[in-house]
Amino acid sequence: MAAPVPSLGEPFHRPLTHLEVKLEANRCLYCYDAPCMNACPTHIDVASFIAKIAAGNLAGSARVIMDANPMGASCARVCPTDQLCEGACVYRKDDTPIRIGDLQRYAVDAAMRDGTRLFEAGAPTGHTVAIVGGGPAGLSAARDLRRMGHAVTIFEAREMLGGLNTYGIVPFRLPIETALWEAEQVVELGAEVRTNVRVGRDLAMDALLAEYDAVVLACGMGGVPQIGIPGEDLAGVWDALEFIEQAKLGRDVGALGSRIAVIGAGNTAIDALTCSRRIARQASGGGEARVTMYYRRGERQMSAYGFEYDFAKQEGIEFRFFCAPARILGEGGRVKAIEFVRTRLETSEGGEAAVPVSGTEFVEPIDTVVRAIGQSRLVETFDRLGIAHDGGVVRVDESLQTTRPGVYAAGDCIFAKGTREAMVVEAAEQGKRAARSIDTYLRGGA
Ligand SMILES: Cc1cc2nc3c(=O)[nH]c(=O)nc-3n(C[C@H](O)[C@H](O)[C@H](O)COP(=O)(O)OP(=O)(O)OC[C@H]3O[C@@H](n4cnc5c(N)ncnc54)[C@H](O)[C@@H]3O)c2cc1C
Ligand code: SF4
Repeated sequence: MAAPVPSLGEPFHRPLTHLEVKLEANRCLYCYDAPCMNACPTHIDVASFIAKIAAGNLAGSARVIMDANPMGASCARVCPTDQLCEGACVYRKDDTPIRIGDLQRYAVDAAMRDGTRLFEAGAPTGHTVAIVGGGPAGLSAARDLRRMGHAVTIFEAREMLGGLNTYGIVPFRLPIETALWEAEQVVELGAEVRTNVRVGRDLAMDALLAEYDAVVLACGMGGVPQIGIPGEDLAGVWDALEFIEQAKLGRDVGALGSRIAVIGAGNTAIDALTCSRRIARQASGGGEARVTMYYRRGERQMSAYGFEYDFAKQEGIEFRFFCAPARILGEGGRVKAIEFVRTRLETSEGGEAAVPVSGTEFVEPIDTVVRAIGQSRLVETFDRLGIAHDGGVVRVDESLQTTRPGVYAAGDCIFAKGTREAMVVEAAEQGKRAARSIDTYLRGGA
């Protein structure tokens, strides 16, 4: 049996030095109606937090950041800043935007290190709210509800809070300690936490509504779906989220071999690629493992962020486009190879589809397969809870209220393709919005 994974190597992004911080902070023009603030989904007052860094007031800076974004520490590490705040910076036209994410990280890391208490709970209102799911959306809702003075109980299916920040995003991009520090900020405000409780299985919605004045559904999405080809039950075939989780928790993932195939081309696929490459390299004492992404469409159709794709290239990942797996071949119950078929794009009214081209099949010897074709939806959970949804996307109105009065939803569970992106910063903003709507509802406003 292979040894447990001791560490997964250098962080994706090194923190700024003190000198770099000084230079970056003093470059800010403190624009009126700052475009960076408007481009941030949580509308952090970027100019204000940068001015505080420049003045040496790091605790004040962290307060500005975390006030607007309860996930400010993780967002500083995982936001696609080139598409958000830094993409809107006026220096962008010279290709030298202020490094907003890195400055944010500098200020919040200082608060983490110094144990700065950032916020206090509000005066008790006598109202109670249940939060289903302790990921970015649920924690953000809980944090703001506590600051408003409402009593909050978080029901979390897993052992630890943090959702995908704790279990899903690779540790060299987002360490577990950062995710848990953010969760701790909420617990310190007096939120009650009940872990290892899966609502819908261990607790019914009616029971929640009998005990609490309002509910926030923030349970995200499910695991990676099956590809639907023969051989997926063989040993050596992984669900990308399970694979990353084992690696992130430092658990043994067994021998991966030297030829690893990741199927898919989104952010989960990139994390699975870089993570498996680092594990395989460590297991072989620095030797080279061939880690390849296989995707049935082209580079242009990849859904991974540009910065993630660039990172994967730097890590030595190989990319094969326009090929789809047809079956996984095994020997002695373990993966041995994958048969692929080449594809081409066909455009129709429904959009672009990748269609297999018969006669183009080829076989690649493979030791480990990682399925990373997106996340499934929690259809069964919402059916059990009596919540209206469209194929597992919870139906909400403008105030984020579901079809059940008093039940609100936020985060990935309301994310539908084509409507913004499933991101930590979006989940945080929706959690805040749900908290505001519930506050109005509880005070008899809606
Ligand atoms: C591999 C990977 C990489 C990513 N990289 C990035 C990135 O670089 N940048 C970025 O911004 N975003 C990234 N994302 C997306 C980001 O992680 C999500 O958008 C975000 O975590 C959504 O937050 P959430 O709270 O809605 O859901 P989650 O984080 O999924 O949290 C939901 C929580 O609810 C719990 N739960 C589920 N069902 C129940 C139930 N019935 N009862 C009680 N609890 C329940 C779960 O255990 C979980 O803790 C990535 C996602 C993945 C999978
Ligand atoms: S939360 Fe993300 S988008 Fe907003 S300012 Fe920070 S790094 Fe930029």
